[in-house]
Amino acid sequence: MSRATLATIHLGALRSNLARVRELAGNARVMAVVKADGYGHGLERVARALAAADAFGVAAIGDGLRLRAAGISNRIVVLSGPDEPADLAELRRLELDAVIHHQSQVDWLAADRSGPPLRVWLKIDTGMHRLGFAPERVAEVHARLRALAGVDPDIVLMTHFAASDEFDGTLTARQVACFDAATADLPGAHALANSAGLLGWPAARGQWVRVGGLLYGLSVVAGQTGTDLGFAPAMTLSTKLISINRIQRGERIGYAAAWQCPDDMPVGVAAIGYGDGYPRSAPSGTPVLVGSTRAAIIGRVSMDLIAIDLRAVADARVGDHVVLWGRELPVEEIAAHAGTISYDLTCGMTRRVLFAEDDI
Ligand SMILES: *Cc1c(COP(=O)(O)O)cnc(C)c1O
Repeated sequence: MSRATLATIHLGALRSNLARVRELAGNARVMAVVKADGYGHGLERVARALAAADAFGVAAIGDGLRLRAAGISNRIVVLSGPDEPADLAELRRLELDAVIHHQSQVDWLAADRSGPPLRVWLKIDTGMHRLGFAPERVAEVHARLRALAGVDPDIVLMTHFAASDEFDGTLTARQVACFDAATADLPGAHALANSAGLLGWPAARGQWVRVGGLLYGLSVVAGQTGTDLGFAPAMTLSTKLISINRIQRGERIGYAAAWQCPDDMPVGVAAIGYGDGYPRSAPSGTPVLVGSTRAAIIGRVSMDLIAIDLRAVADARVGDHVVLWGRELPVEEIAAHAGTISYDLTCGMTRRVLFAEDDI
């Protein structure tokens, strides 16, 4: 018998979230960002469900290879481009677009004589200071790329926001202004917004939006869940109760004896732990659903197991369904307890978690 730990992916939610992104994006084209195995939802599964996207964004050429092997024919953009000269031939072979963010990549392209023109996205560092060319170099790099026979001259101009989830912050407005100034005299489509940029910064819409989180129903906006923002969670993580015991007042639960029973009380044990990707940092008090009743975990999260305070779930039985996050229990709430963001949790599913799909 396999373990009960199950991530159910809601394909209907993925599709309706894409439709909602399109409404918000107006005429802009939509790149569905599917890096990190589709934010943990399964790369090929997500790409099939989101086949209506104008492009997919991946972090690595290997993900592009997987998508092509799965028969995905959409445009695919490798968000950090080639890591070494040999990658150029692979990008061409797989017909992947490359983000070009560093001089070393321009040099590799200039030295490369292989194959048909590569489609490139020129990345500008407007203030995040991670990847990209300094604004004052953009015109020169753009001209150099357009002069290369191995580069398609229709270059997309892009940048990435550091803090677009702060809707009243000033950094994003400064990044937009910096981008506009650096690209004012250049031809090419503009691609600035991620999920939070799409929600909070209409001036940043451009001709392409690159959206990840919202497609999975995930929010990075503090205090707001994906559902609050009108999106549907695409993952439900669930397991079962495998034990219920009455533990006496004053006894302690689990590793490090970290939680002490204030009463004689029923304590449930569910088959999930950090070995599945449930965060070890989730403290006592982090909510779960037992059946449809809210309860809370108690004590340390173990590798394979969590303990649950069942005082509020008098009718709980071994075998009952336990939901760790999903439509009835926002993953953002769990992330807040665990001191992280929702993306980190869905990306963290390990190989022993079974996946299922439904059309909800
Ligand atoms: C991950 C990523 C995105 C998508 O960000 P979300 O917050 O998930 O929408 C967009 N652009 C780039 C360059 C990224 O790395």
